[in-house]
Amino acid sequence: MAPPTARPASKPRRARVALRRAVVFVTTHCNFRCGFCEFAAGTLPRERKRHFPLEMWGPFLTEFKTLGGRELYLTGGEPLMHPQFWEMLTIAGREGLSVHRITTNGSMAKRMGEHELQLIRETVRAVQVSVDSPRAGEHDQSRGFDGSFERLSAFIVQLQRAGIMVHVSNVLTRELFARSADLIAWAHSAGVKHVNFQPCNWSANYGDYEAVEDKVRYQVPSQELDALDAALAEAHRAARRLRVTTNLPLLRRWVRAFCECQGTEEFFFNRMFRRFRCYVPHTTVYVGSDGEIFPCTLIRRVGTLRESSLRDLWLGAMQPVRDRLEKGAFWRECNSCYCDFPANVRHNLVRHPAGNAGLALRTLAYYTGRLRTY
Ligand code: SF4
Ligand code: SF4
Repeated sequence: MAPPTARPASKPRRARVALRRAVVFVTTHCNFRCGFCEFAAGTLPRERKRHFPLEMWGPFLTEFKTLGGRELYLTGGEPLMHPQFWEMLTIAGREGLSVHRITTNGSMAKRMGEHELQLIRETVRAVQVSVDSPRAGEHDQSRGFDGSFERLSAFIVQLQRAGIMVHVSNVLTRELFARSADLIAWAHSAGVKHVNFQPCNWSANYGDYEAVEDKVRYQVPSQELDALDAALAEAHRAARRLRVTTNLPLLRRWVRAFCECQGTEEFFFNRMFRRFRCYVPHTTVYVGSDGEIFPCTLIRRVGTLRESSLRDLWLGAMQPVRDRLEKGAFWRECNSCYCDFPANVRHNLVRHPAGNAGLALRTLAYYTGRLRTY
C-alpha cells in the first residue's frame, strides 16, 4: 500500500463501533463486459471466480445479527447468477434481516417466476438496476452485451408489476455523462423514483484485485469537468421537476475534487472538509464471495470467515484499520472512495460541526429549501 495521503491529525479519538450493515459480494461471476469493471466476463482468471458458499451463509448471518447487524446489501458480479441466490434470500428472510438493496445488471428476468418475485417483495426493500445510458445502443455497447437494455427494461416492468421498488444506478463515464438529464427523464417515464450516480473510480472495486487495464479512459479528465458540472446541474433540475430523487445534491459538491485528485497523492476529502474522518469500517462490513472480510470495498482484506469468526475479525482485525483512520491516516485508494460517501459526509458534519461549519450550514440551507443549488 502507498503511504497515507491525509493531513497530520492532532489527537486520535475513538469513535463508537456499532455493526449495522453488511455489503456482500455474493459472486464474482458476471455475464456482462463493462470495460471499467474487474468482474467483467473474461476478465478474472478462472480460479478467482466463485460464488459465496451457501454453507457459510446461515452461520455468517447468525453471527452478523448477534453482533448487532441489521441491513444487508447484495452485490457482485451479477448477484442473480449465484446458483443458490434464492436460497440465500430465503435464509436472510428467515433470520429476520432486511435486504436493503440488490444491485443487478437487470439481465436475469428469466430466472424469476412468481415464487422469486414474492421472495423479493417480502425480503428486499429495493432492487437497483445499473443503467449507463437511456439509449439502447449506447447502453449495450457500454455493457458489452447486445440486448442488455431491452432486458433491463423488461426486468424493471416485471419488478414493478410485482410491486417491488426499483432504483437505477449510473456510472458517470467520460463517454456518457452527458446523458444524465436524459437518464432522469427516462427513469421517470419508466416509473423509477430514485437514480444514484457515481463517478468511475481509478482503483479496483474489490480491495484484493488490481484495477482493470486502461480504466483511466472511462474517467472524466480535468478539461471536461465544466461540462460534467453543467450536465449534472441539468440532471439535477430535471430530477427536481420530475420529482425523481437522486444523490446529485451531495455528489455535485465533491465530484470535481474527486475527478481532479484521481490517481494523485492529493486526498479529495481535504478540499471539502476542514476535518474528515472515515467511519465506514465502524458500522459496515464488506464480505467477499469467498468469505473474505474487507474494511470497505477498496481496501485489502483483514481476514476471512474460513479462518476466523466474524466476531474476531470485526472486533479484532478491523480495529487497527479504524485506529489508523481515526488518526486521519488514509490509504491512497481512499482517493477513489465513493463507498457510502453520503453517510460519511453526514457523520462528519454531525461529529465535527465546528470544524466543518461552512459545509454544515450549506447542507442545512439546502435541505430546508433555502438554497437551490448545493
Ligand atoms: S459493472 Fe456490473 S454488470 Fe458490468 S461487468 Fe461489472 S458486475 Fe457485471
Ligand atoms: S476507501 Fe473510503 S470507505 Fe474505505 S477506508 Fe478509505 S475513506 Fe474509508
